[in-house]
Formats: sequence, structure tokens, C-alpha cells
Amino acid sequence: MNQPIVYLVGAGPGDYGLISLKAIECIKQADTIVYDRLADDRLLDQARPNVELIYVGKASSDHTMRQEDINQLLVDKAKENKIVVRLKGGDPFVFGRGGEEALTLLANGIPFEVVPGITSAISVPAYAGIPVTHRGIATSFAVITGHEDPTKGESGMKWDKLATAVDTLVFLMGVENLPHITAKLVEHGRPADTPAAVIRWGTKPEQEVLVTTVGTAAGDVAARGLKPPAIFIVGQVVTLRDKLAWFDNKPLFGKKVLVTRAREQASVLTDGLAKLGADCMEAPAIKIVPPASYEPLDAAIACLQEYDWLIFTSVNGVEHFFSRMAAAGLDTRAIKAKVAAIGSPTAARLKGYGIVADIIPAEFRAEGVIEALKPHITPSMKVLIPRALVARDILPEKLTELGACVNVAPAYRTVTGDTDGQELAAALAAGSIDLVTFTSSSTVTNLLALLGQDGARLVAKAKVACIGPITAETCLTHGIKPDIIAEEYTIKGLIEAITTLYGIG
Ligand code: SAH
Repeated sequence: MNQPIVYLVGAGPGDYGLISLKAIECIKQADTIVYDRLADDRLLDQARPNVELIYVGKASSDHTMRQEDINQLLVDKAKENKIVVRLKGGDPFVFGRGGEEALTLLANGIPFEVVPGITSAISVPAYAGIPVTHRGIATSFAVITGHEDPTKGESGMKWDKLATAVDTLVFLMGVENLPHITAKLVEHGRPADTPAAVIRWGTKPEQEVLVTTVGTAAGDVAARGLKPPAIFIVGQVVTLRDKLAWFDNKPLFGKKVLVTRAREQASVLTDGLAKLGADCMEAPAIKIVPPASYEPLDAAIACLQEYDWLIFTSVNGVEHFFSRMAAAGLDTRAIKAKVAAIGSPTAARLKGYGIVADIIPAEFRAEGVIEALKPHITPSMKVLIPRALVARDILPEKLTELGACVNVAPAYRTVTGDTDGQELAAALAAGSIDLVTFTSSSTVTNLLALLGQDGARLVAKAKVACIGPITAETCLTHGIKPDIIAEEYTIKGLIEAITTLYGIG
């Protein structure tokens, strides 16, 4: 049985990468996770499949569980001998009420540990290009609650000292209270022209930065309609943003991109685009599943030595082929044939299995592949192509014309994914998606199937980037005009095409 323990864990400010290794370890071990509104849902993906998830943050009704009830919940769960993770934004001890939770656990004799997190107080300014201290400009900073009720008679805030004693002031939870905060600062001697900034959803692709002054902040925020969560930072350091802004300067910052690959593969495209600052929405329009039957592939594998050539057309083909080899108790040594890999990612995956492809056609289209293979094919050679059945049939046809004996063995199938079509249609209709990416013809047809009747018109509201001419043709057939087509038909080529599309290549 478990020794009960409660980990008070900081989840960081928003950017998925800004969480500690220790926090991830805790999430992985947890029996129960008690969490607030999280800046990134992917954090919970790290948890065990049967983990108990308890949400205690603001629901749509804006109703929060009372702190005393949360404290009690942690105690109750621990008493069930569970490993409990209390996951909070930023750092648990910086306006996170982690101290109160720890005291309750202590009073109930329950062991606890604290896993500090990266607080928004320093990381959000950092992502706006504002260091909280800077040699010659700021030698101190304070993190202050902006949530104090201005109607409360007795203030717990030492405004007279705070206003001028510290160089950089960082207010959390203060956006709605700015008129009060800024008035107090000025009243107690901070010049109204002191540089200031309001940063909303810092470290996230949605980050918004408003540079202002203490005197003008409240009016500017009202005019722009900025809402929480945001921090308010005051001090000369704000001027450094002119030079040091880096995150919201990224080439694709502010662009919302729909990635429609199968979830298993989406991350390469998503990661590449996210590095350029894009806000990627993964809507895996296709899913890779086993073929209706492995029999033909298994039969081919059973007499593998008869084949002269093995042609792999995709990474998926490689993966499924080798998993069937393994199922048959075979490994790479059973391959005596020559091997062709279409596309460098396919060749790279083969290398992972210890196979250096004999040819890697530079052209990714079937036509180009035929050209590359032609010199190597003699009549009655036996060729095995483990791949999806839906793919275009030109390759086997042309090889047959050359006299080869071709066996296309289904290695996998692509099917429509389980994305919520309505939600996606609404996002497209609202114009909140800037770019739709297509990485194969089936992503086009499957996305359209998902979106329903009006699909093509909805997709046309965004820009469209295609991985290659075949995919582009499929788009045109369905009434979608691609804005750009990759020159090299790979994910890398697609990312390059997107940068060209936005004039940043
Ligand atoms: N424990 C948290 C703070 C909790 S209080 C931490 O250490 O960061 C919640 C306040 O934090 C919000 O009202 C806002 O002022 C600030 N905040 C948290 N995440 C933020 C983000 N990504 N961008 C801007 N402000 C953020």
C-alpha cells in the first residue's frame, strides 16, 4: 500500500516547457491530481491512465471551490492512502495559497512536499523582454498582490514604503484594480511617468503586452479591454523591452495554425511551427490504424527472401512492417532485398532499424520514384511495397509496366480521427484560424468529412498550405485553393513554405 503524501506542485506560468522535471515526476506518480485552471492541458497527459482528476478551479459559472474545502479534500484523499498532487499555476507559495494547504496537512499529520514552480512574477516579464532586475537600472523587485479590496478601510499594504523603496514592482491579480493601484503609487511618490506594462497570458502564444506608464495604465487597459490573467509591472526596466522583446517578435507569433496530421505524427509539425512562435491547434484529421488484415503482409514477410526490392513509401510503412517482422520473430537480418525509401524521414526511420536505403529518390512523387527506380528494375523482379492501400496506385502500375512483379501489402490504414468537427467549424467560421496545413490528400478529404457540407467554404476562410502538388490537387478538386505548396515534400519543406507564405523565409 502507498504511503500517503501530498505534493504541492508548481506547474509554471503557461508555456508547457516551463515546468520542472520533479513536477512531471510527481504528475506521473499521482493517484489523484487536484488542479486549478491549467495553462496547458498537456500536463495532465503525463498522468497515469487511471489517475483521479479533480478540478477545483473556476468553472464556467466562475465558481471556485472554497479554500477550506480544497484543504479538506487534500486531507481526505491522502487518508485514502493516495499519492496526491496539488497542481497550481506558477509557484505554489507565491499567491498560490500553498502555505495554507501545507499548514492544514501538517495539522492532520499528513506528509507533504513542495515542488516550487516558475512564478509568473518573473517569467511573464521575461517573455515580454523585461528583466525584473538590471545592472544600473533596478537592484530590487517586489511581488505584490493587486487584489486588495480598495473599499476595505484598513489596508494591509504599506503603500508609502512600497511606492518608492523598491525599483521594480510586479503586481499579480491586479488588472481589475489598476485605478486604485496606480493612484496609490502616485499618491505616495512614484512619478506618474514611470514606465509600466501590463502583460496578459504571458509565456503563451496568446501573450499580449501593453506598454504604458503608471499615470496612463488604468485608462489604456480599459480602452484595450484587457482582462485577467495579467500582471502589472512598474519600473525603468520596462524600457528594456524595446531592445529585448524576443518571444512576441517570433516570425509566426500570433498566428493560429491548424495541424491535421494523425496525432502520432502531428508533433513534428507542431513543434517546428511552435518554435517559430505559432499557436498550433492539433486537429488530427486522420488516425493511423492497422489494416483490415495483416495476412497479405505476414505472408510476404514469411517469404521475404524471394523479394528483390522492398519499397517504403512512408515512416508508417516502415513502422508497421517492422512490427510485423517482430511479431514473426524476425529482425533486420531477414531482409536480403535491396531497399528504396521515399523521402528522407522514411530513410531515417529505416536507419533506426539498421538499414541504409540503397536508393532514396530525390523526388517524392510516384513519378519521380519510378525514374529513380527504372535503372534498377529488370523484368520479373519481385517488389514488395508495404504501405496504406488508399495511396495512389501509380507506383505499382508503372513498376508492373516495367515488368516487375509487384506486391502491395497493406501495412496500415488512415481513418478519420476523433476531433470535434463542430468546434473546429466554429473556429474556422469565426476566422480565428489563420492557416490550415495539409500533409496528404487524405488529410484534406478527412478534414472535409469532419467539417460537413460547408467544409470547403470554411477552410477557405484561412490560408492553406499543402505539403506537395498531389495534396494541392486534392484541395482544388474539393474547391479549396492552396496559398502555398511546399517545394520539398516533407514536413521540413512544409514549414519552409509557411515561412515563405508569411514573407519570413
Ligand atoms: N502562483 C502563481 C500566481 C497565482 S495568482 C504564480 O506564481 O505565478 C494568479 C495571478 O498570477 C493572475 O491573476 C495573474 O496576475 C498572474 N498570472 C499567472 N499566470 C500568468 C500568465 N501566464 N500571464 C500573466 N499573468 C499571470
